[in-house]
Amino acid sequence: MQKVLVIEDEEGMRDILKTYLENNGYIVLVAENGKTGLEYFNNNKDISIILLDIMLPDISGWSLLKTIREKSKVPVMMITARGEEYDKLLGFELGADDYVVKPFSPKEVIARVKAILSRTYGASEEDGKTEYKGISINVSSREVTVDGEKIDLTPKEFDLLKLLIDNKGKVVSREKCLNEVWGYDFYGDLRTVDTHIKQLREKLGEKRKLIKTVWGIGYKLDGE
Ligand code: CA
Repeated sequence: MQKVLVIEDEEGMRDILKTYLENNGYIVLVAENGKTGLEYFNNNKDISIILLDIMLPDISGWSLLKTIREKSKVPVMMITARGEEYDKLLGFELGADDYVVKPFSPKEVIARVKAILSRTYGASEEDGKTEYKGISINVSSREVTVDGEKIDLTPKEFDLLKLLIDNKGKVVSREKCLNEVWGYDFYGDLRTVDTHIKQLREKLGEKRKLIKTVWGIGYKLDGE
């Protein structure tokens, strides 16, 4: 899963971006000021894109972009408030990849994030379908079928199933499930994973047997 860093001081804006991005299968880190954002950036080498607010309480988004560009080509999408004139020329010079104006449609932001990511990293295998012993998942449409019959999964159940399929035959620890599906900043306990696995098994019907419990560790997708 690709990791997105959102640097934005408005809580409501952060929450909505986080929710939408997570529902679209991204791991999301959120920072409420420039200093924290820069720390996250420095400590996470696998960030795929940064959504950066221009008006931050401590550092301006522009100077943060400059600092980021000194060491990385990671795509950056600037977030600007209505009424503030977005300086396209400055953005271009500093290496911003795109920008959105608040208030924005979260769906539009997601579409732009996807476009930048596929432009930057190429179409990933995630655009296609993955199949495992009669369970078929389509990551772009987020549809799942079991022996050709469509089943409805919640976003978390979907991500969990995808994680297990991506790691088929290997044990996936409950900690890994939490980190990959809920994100590193989720303070839940491991039983959250068990609950979702239980629901996922129920929805898989006969195929439930493919998800093996590895006691004390986690789960494994195994058809043997
Ligand atoms: Ca702001």
